[in-house]
Amino acid sequence: MPELRQNRITKEWVIVATERAKRPRDLALARPVKTPPAYVPNCPFCPGNEANTPPEILRVSGQKEGEWLVRVVPNKFAALSPGASPQRTVHGSSGPLPDSAFMR
Ligand SMILES: [Zn+2]
Repeated sequence: MPELRQNRITKEWVIVATERAKRPRDLALARPVKTPPAYVPNCPFCPGNEANTPPEILRVSGQKEGEWLVRVVPNKFAALSPGASPQRTVHGSSGPLPDSAFMR
């Protein structure tokens, strides 16, 4: 049976419902892990399709000639641009935040 308990220090109330731990888990189906294919012809990130990305800005080469392990390319649809000074808005107004503003 659920109980309401009060934290004597904080005075907060919580519900303790031990019956909820007995909920059936039959509805949670185990999904098989999908292994991605080694190569997708129209995928710009697959080896061999490098021409479909902007020029790389960093590469970690592999041991074979022309092989790469990691390629870094600019985001074609970046939310922020390098060197830009994005404006912060407070409650719909534009302009810099006041010094007392709180941002997470
Ligand atoms: Zn790919």
